[in-house]
Amino acid sequence: MREVALDGHSRRPIRKFAGTLPLMDYAGRLESLQKDVLRLKVDTLFITHPPNIRYLCGFTGSAGALLVSASATVFFSDGRYARQAKEEVKGAKIIIAPKAPLVSVGEWLSRGGRRLRPRSLGIESEHLTVAARKRLAALIPKGVRLREVPPVVEQARMVKDSNELEKIREAVSVGAGLFDRALVTIRPGVNELEVAAEMEYSARKAGVEGMSFETIVAAGVRSSLPHGRASAARIPARGFVVCDFGVILHGYCSDRTRTVWVGAASKEVSRLYAAVLEAQLAAIDSVRPGVPVSKVDHAARKTLQTHGLERHFTHSTGHGVGLEIHEAPRVAKGQQEILRPGMVITVEPGVYLPDKWGVRIEDMVVVTEHGCEVLAPHQKEFIAL
Ligand code: ZN
Ligand code: ZN
Repeated sequence: MREVALDGHSRRPIRKFAGTLPLMDYAGRLESLQKDVLRLKVDTLFITHPPNIRYLCGFTGSAGALLVSASATVFFSDGRYARQAKEEVKGAKIIIAPKAPLVSVGEWLSRGGRRLRPRSLGIESEHLTVAARKRLAALIPKGVRLREVPPVVEQARMVKDSNELEKIREAVSVGAGLFDRALVTIRPGVNELEVAAEMEYSARKAGVEGMSFETIVAAGVRSSLPHGRASAARIPARGFVVCDFGVILHGYCSDRTRTVWVGAASKEVSRLYAAVLEAQLAAIDSVRPGVPVSKVDHAARKTLQTHGLERHFTHSTGHGVGLEIHEAPRVAKGQQEILRPGMVITVEPGVYLPDKWGVRIEDMVVVTEHGCEVLAPHQKEFIAL
């Protein structure tokens, strides 16, 4: 027997996305990065991380590179992307060559690089491999210095503009619907992969570009693994099932975790669930502009401590979400990033009792002028199926 206390959510059809969204402010982003170029004391930035390229000029392909100087922006790709680059890239001169973008950049600079002629090239040290750096160094003219620069594009990406928030809201809204599918699939004897497959199938039918990450469905003793990717394990007659899932829509990710109980629930398990929910609500309550992210983490930990469960909370409280599923800031102990309006973070405390079971509850929140807004609020009371 199942008692789905979800005021009809389980029967709600997955929402399909329709319509067009406004264009991103690529010009504004490039302009502010060009100011960074001067501040970083390099002539030109060499951007290779695909989400950063997408953020700056709109290109969604996987092979591209971007040179940004104080006065010009040049995008490089290969022949496979000629048409796509023409359609997508905004605010940059496009160079298509039958070579890997990094080689094209190096050769283009060695031929004089038109107006750019950099003396120092800022590289994304978090993303450029050692091998790629060597290859680039061998191609560029002598005298041009490669300099590692801090992740300035990632820092800019932390604060989402209204267009990005609109896309994130859509992703969260579609993503939230997957849990409804999980609720009608989860029952003893069904394996975790089947539940994940149902969720992912409904996501694809709703028009998503992909999943933000491999869907986590961890049942019974496997719920005590914080990252229990769906496996062939069957849902037991009695135990928690942790579902952590997200979709990518218009390039933006969603991320959510819900945990349900299967079977007759004891006071002990509902209390455990209540403690995690209390920690999550306390952490959400602490989210507001001017607060360091470590405080949000602390709010969750402190609450779990009052229940004697803090030592079983073995990961950080959250992370930024946007074009990437995990992006800055990290919401963890010791992290001093200050929350600002427009930042989107997850709040996802969990408690994992080894060899027994675990509970995690996760929502995405956007920092507002005075506090925060939980995206697509969804009932998260204890559910026994
Ligand atoms: Zn998650
Ligand atoms: Zn997460």
